[in-house]
This record gives sequence, structure tokens and C-alpha cells, in this order.
Amino acid sequence: MTTNASGAHSPVRRASLKMCGDCTLCCKVYEIEDFEKKPGKTCHNVRDEGGCGVWGLHPKACQEFKCLWLKHDDMDGRWRPDHAGFVMRLEGKGTVCIDVDHDRPNAWRREPYYSQLKAWSEVMPRNEGLVLVYAPEAMYVITPMEDLPLKAPKKGDVLETGMEDTLFGRRPYARVVPAREAKRSRDTEFHFHKRVG
Ligand code: SF4
Ligand code: SF4
Repeated sequence: MTTNASGAHSPVRRASLKMCGDCTLCCKVYEIEDFEKKPGKTCHNVRDEGGCGVWGLHPKACQEFKCLWLKHDDMDGRWRPDHAGFVMRLEGKGTVCIDVDHDRPNAWRREPYYSQLKAWSEVMPRNEGLVLVYAPEAMYVITPMEDLPLKAPKKGDVLETGMEDTLFGRRPYARVVPAREAKRSRDTEFHFHKRVG
């Protein structure tokens, strides 16, 4: 997360062509258990001029985190989290998670982002991955046909998705299985790691 604290150097290089630059959005959207930072509140260690004020001593969770934009050279500057208004990460086997800035709850609905999320969701009916949006008001499972809102899950809950036959034809469905029931379920697929809300 973020850049180094020296101020005398360029931001830490995180991938061959990418640097965090002025972005500090992951220092805002995520919970940091080490010092009870709540999701949506910018970490008190972010310096006014940008970067982490405790670089080198920052929590392990921060040290290990790299957003998808930072990892992928083929995502251009429009996708840098502070510009886009959300942080992207991968979870499980290819699930794309969009963690939305609490102060820009509809950022993910703008273009070119929304069309791209829909395109990525095309794999969902084949169960090859999911696109999940963690917005401040709800979590959404994005599918090519519709966006399915769900209440924010608790850690350990499991997401069940699929297609079902309805009076209106074959449609996608999604539901949260509480952790206590998930142990008995044979249809569970993805474990949540609650990051926002
Ligand atoms: S969200 Fe990504 S680009 Fe922004 S500070 Fe975090 S790791 Fe760097
Ligand atoms: S400790 Fe540093 S890297 Fe971690 S959230 Fe705070 S400012 Fe960001």
C-alpha cells in the first residue's frame, strides 16, 4: 500500500511499469485490524504529501497488498484506483473484487468501468469466476443479465451462485449462506473476506 516515507525518493516501484504515485486509496477502503482502522476511513499514517508515514514498520497486511491495477501493466491510468474510485483485487480462483471508495459509491457504474465489469462477468454462467462489487450500501454480484444485490456478508459466510429456471426464463441467482450452514452445504463456492462496509 502507498509509497515510502522518505519523501526524498520516488514512490516505491511495485511492478515493472507501475507505481502507486499519489494513490492511497487502499489505505482508505480496507480494514486494518492491527490498529483498528475502519473501512472507509483514511489511515492516520497517510502523510499529507502522500505515502505511508510508517513505511518499513507498516502492518504485514499492508506490506503484502498490491491492487490489480498495480500488478497489471495492461490496465491504463484510467484504472488507477484514485482515479477510478475503487480498488480491485483477486480473491479465490479468479474472482474479481471491486472495493468502492465510500465517498464515491457509484464510481463503478461509470464508463468505461461498468461495461468492462459486465464483460468480465460473462464467465460467470460457466462458474469460472465472479465479479463482485463491494459498494458502501451493499454487495453486488455482477452478471451479464443483471446486478444482484446482497447484504454485506460476514467473514466465513459463503456465496452460492448459479443459474435457475424461472417464469421469466433462465436467470442468474446469488445468495449468502451463513457460516454455520455453509459447513453442511455441498454447493458452496466462494469464501468472503469482508473488506468494506
Ligand atoms: S490502491 Fe493500488 S495503486 Fe493505490 S496505493 Fe494501493 S496498491 Fe498502490
Ligand atoms: S500503515 Fe501505511 S500502508 Fe498501511 S494503511 Fe496506513 S498508511 Fe497505508
